[in-house]
Amino acid sequence: MADLKLPSRSEDFSEWYNQLVLRAEMADYAPVRGCMIVRPYGWALWENITAALDRRFKATGHVNAAFPLLIPQSFISKEQSHVAGFSPELAVVTHGGGEKLEEPLVVRPTSETIIGTAYAKWIQSYRDLPVLINQWNSVVRWELRTKLFLRTLEFYWQEGHTAHATLEEAEAETRRLVDVYTDFAVKEAAIPVIPGRKSDSERFAGADITYSLEAMMGDGKALQFCTSHNLGQNFSKAFEIRYLDQNGQLQYCWTTSWGLSTRVVGAIIMVHGDDQGLILPPRLAPYQAVIVPIFKTDEEKAQVLEAAKKISEQLAAGDVRVKVDQREGLSPGFKFNDWEMRGVPLRIEVGPKDVAKGSAVLARRDKPGKEGKSFVSQEGIASAVQQALADIQKALFDRALAFREANTFNPKTLDEFQAVVEKGFARAYWCGNAKCEEQIKASTKATLRCIPLEQPGGQGQCIFCGQASAELAIFGKAY
Ligand SMILES: [Zn+2]
Repeated sequence: MADLKLPSRSEDFSEWYNQLVLRAEMADYAPVRGCMIVRPYGWALWENITAALDRRFKATGHVNAAFPLLIPQSFISKEQSHVAGFSPELAVVTHGGGEKLEEPLVVRPTSETIIGTAYAKWIQSYRDLPVLINQWNSVVRWELRTKLFLRTLEFYWQEGHTAHATLEEAEAETRRLVDVYTDFAVKEAAIPVIPGRKSDSERFAGADITYSLEAMMGDGKALQFCTSHNLGQNFSKAFEIRYLDQNGQLQYCWTTSWGLSTRVVGAIIMVHGDDQGLILPPRLAPYQAVIVPIFKTDEEKAQVLEAAKKISEQLAAGDVRVKVDQREGLSPGFKFNDWEMRGVPLRIEVGPKDVAKGSAVLARRDKPGKEGKSFVSQEGIASAVQQALADIQKALFDRALAFREANTFNPKTLDEFQAVVEKGFARAYWCGNAKCEEQIKASTKATLRCIPLEQPGGQGQCIFCGQASAELAIFGKAY
């Protein structure tokens, strides 16, 4: 068993993550460097993420569609800052069907250009607006330093693309998605996030304004949870996305795009996991509860499995995602460790004594040992389990928030700033000058994560140059 132990998080967070992703069978490395194989357990988590988001997108008026993987190279060049931003990471197809192509094709790094071309065709009049489309797909950005879920050449995501008649509507849409993603992060992933605006240097290539949600990982580093971009008229002018307004005047549309990727799987692992393995938030966990039958004799086995089956049926009827671990030849202790590694929120133990008493043991993943154990009656067990899952969901969020608060600092000098970004976030005034931002990054390796939408008001001094500033920013080292 000794070699089965993960490195502890405090000793080597990065290696803890790498080994955990493999051992919990979330993902694996692929033959092509930079690529990732998402294994069924990891994909089941992603499916629950997509379902929770898709519900929210549809509830806010969006519909899904599918656009092609291949984009004519000339499309990418049409929007200047877009091409500058993405050129270094493009995968280009030069041959097809054994012949050299007249025009090379780009494997989509994102789909603004191909969708913009379609919108130019589809949108004629103000009556056609707004267009609110999302697609679930994968994109390719050439990347050789692999870190499963966090940094891969191909990754899975959704990209929303919308077109509007006015700047105000486009901005409202951009902000609506910030709210949608925040609701998802808090209620489903149990991850506290800081919604904010990106600085100009961290903005999406081709956007006027980029908003992001920033989350703190278990090592104090930041991870950008998702982004929402107000693209102004940059893409509509490059792709001629125009409409006739009510006065018969031809106008350019205002467009937005927004996305969330499989990086969020990495965030869930790094925010909630502990030295024993994953801890998945119940709302997203592939299995919310696992029943481990405990027995010695054949007679006990028959009784215990019968009870486990009944409990499982009650839970399934109560919409709990449940699994009975009937694997032969493995000890209950092995199974306990295995499901702990995989982060199943609740373990249900059923042994001969439980059968005799009509009871079962619930063991919470987030509270190891006796503290997380309770004895419940098999009758009406579904409501006890649902309550326990709700408690775990809340406890995970509360713990993540308390950790972030304890590791967010308000440095007053650059020396203090330098010291605290080794541990967590620095909240500091910034004058808005890109040079200050750049020099902070050069001297501390911390980047400006976002300028939070919620500001305390009042004034301070830029942490770098001392100039008066009205806005606090969050700085941190980032994934
Ligand atoms: Zn400054």
